[in-house]
Amino acid sequence: MPFRRFALTALACTLLAGCTLNLARIQDPPRAAAVPTAFPWESMVYVARTDAGVLVLDLGWYGSAGALRKALGKVGAAPADVTDVFLTHSHRDHIAAWRQVPRARFHMLDSEAPLFTGVERHRDIASRVGQAVLGNPAPWPGEVDVRPFAHDTVFVLGRDTLRAFVIPGHTAGSTAYLFRRVLFVGDALFHSALLGWGPAKRIFTASGKLNRAGLASLRLRVHPFPVAWVCTAHAKCAAADSAFFDREFR
Ligand SMILES: [Zn+2]
Repeated sequence: MPFRRFALTALACTLLAGCTLNLARIQDPPRAAAVPTAFPWESMVYVARTDAGVLVLDLGWYGSAGALRKALGKVGAAPADVTDVFLTHSHRDHIAAWRQVPRARFHMLDSEAPLFTGVERHRDIASRVGQAVLGNPAPWPGEVDVRPFAHDTVFVLGRDTLRAFVIPGHTAGSTAYLFRRVLFVGDALFHSALLGWGPAKRIFTASGKLNRAGLASLRLRVHPFPVAWVCTAHAKCAAADSAFFDREFR
């Protein structure tokens, strides 16, 4: 990489909270794969093959159509094979590839569904600006098959179990998912090379207070289950040891 491009990349990674962190640790082809989109923002698409079908967890942003195909290719699947989409939340940087999987079931907390389908507007400043400048990024009601759930929910997918833990705060229906020992927390946590780990940034978040409360209660709810890695929706992963939970989930 030429020095100038390297320097710009490093600057972007530091300032924009970009670049992935420990993403290689959750790669598990041909069973699962994670691919970032929208460099250097790195909105992540995670895919997995189960006995019950092919799931996608979050749908990325710019470049997500190609990234989704690439991720699915690693588990021997194509977009038409996707049976289930699970959303940590519906900010525009995590839903862009919905058009690639129009026949999938879209799972999310009931309070997130009207935000996903554009019936309600996101409350955070960044989303309101994005809506005004870029327009609606989401499907309209009825355009995709939305399957809302109302509280913490367990999805049995053949031999796999996916556990949904509701953590409203970053958005009204933000949800964390525990799947194969990886806890996907969406944007409830934030990481940048400059600032390290911390809770969701206020400018992107509907309620910072609720988000913090959600993180604290999430720790109690996931405690019975083995967790190896915690990953944000921006492809930042950390080893899920007790020190990390003590520091970040309080
Ligand atoms: Zn977000």
